[in-house]
Amino acid sequence: MLEERSAALGVRIRVADADADIETRDRLRASFERGDLKTWGYGEAYADAAVDPMRILREARSVVCVAIPYARPAPKRAGALLGRVSKYAWSRDYHVRVREILDNIARHIDAVVGRGITAIACDTAPVAERARAARSGLAWIGKHTNAIAPEFGSYVFLGEIFCALALQPDPPLAKHCGSCRRCVDVCPTGALRGDYTIDATRCIADLTQRVDAIPRALRPLLGDWIWGCDLCQDVCPPTARAGARGDAAFDPFDEDLAHPDLQALLVLRSGTYKRRFRPTAMGWRGAAVLRRNAAIGLGNALDRAAIPALGRALREDPHPMVRGAAAWALGRIGGPAARRLIVQAEASEGDPAVLEEIVAASKGFSPGVEGLE
Ligand code: SF4
Ligand code: SF4
Repeated sequence: MLEERSAALGVRIRVADADADIETRDRLRASFERGDLKTWGYGEAYADAAVDPMRILREARSVVCVAIPYARPAPKRAGALLGRVSKYAWSRDYHVRVREILDNIARHIDAVVGRGITAIACDTAPVAERARAARSGLAWIGKHTNAIAPEFGSYVFLGEIFCALALQPDPPLAKHCGSCRRCVDVCPTGALRGDYTIDATRCIADLTQRVDAIPRALRPLLGDWIWGCDLCQDVCPPTARAGARGDAAFDPFDEDLAHPDLQALLVLRSGTYKRRFRPTAMGWRGAAVLRRNAAIGLGNALDRAAIPALGRALREDPHPMVRGAAAWALGRIGGPAARRLIVQAEASEGDPAVLEEIVAASKGFSPGVEGLE
């Protein structure tokens, strides 16, 4: 019955047992101890819950694991000072479509059995979903730490249907990365260790979601990414071979969202944020986080055309984190005009954290794209 559903929905489905996954619990604990996920505040209790299907459904006997492909052709947009958004975030919030698909499969199972025996999970509770997907043979885990589904590659959303019926489990896939290291080598921040672990505190996907200041040393490495990063998946051979096979529900929410204008994003206020970003997966950290990311992207563009916009942000943005990022960006671009704006802001800024950014930007003032005066 699940084969028919997977064909009809364009997804891959496999079944795992519902045993607590002690090996994954220990791996999670080790990663928390290393501090790999410290910005998310996870601890032992999270690890214990995430590996035990009975925390979701007390009678769980099996877990139906689902991989939903989301890669769509990347929209082209020409122009200067554009940012980049990860594929998973440029569409209407993926949770909506993923939940629809999981509900569809769960209702089908319930109808066949004749009673409600399922519970779905879609980022609503702690679930070690990549590990469960690997256990079910749905996917294998690559050195970029993403799940790779054989026909779809790694651009897949994962979801689970916890089931009070002991369905026959599928065997895990006998696949691994071998000697390939493309993802490790392409990662600009060195977040991937090459041993199938990641220091998420260095990953651009995490850095662009931080609600506090991004560490200065990492800012240049963000390039033009303003939400997420696809570099390690784009170079992954099974993902590249799979192509853009995602559901049309994952097309960009509007035509410019995959490559937003950074200067327009720098002045994003709540009305536009609610209309354009709130309906997407970028819509949960607030407008200031996107303005901060736009400031960093403009700094990394090293284009003096952005100096007036950054100067206004440094003077007028209501959020200190954005003013601090604007100061950093001006320091990175350099040149006399940027220097003047930084000196002026130092005289009028009252927030100690922004002043610290201003002082750092003045000290490390780069010669700029055309050299200092
Ligand atoms: S998403 Fe980007 S920053 Fe994160 S591990 Fe992959 S390449 Fe590195
Ligand atoms: S790029 Fe290579 S090493 Fe990285 S996950 Fe893909 S196959 Fe594995």
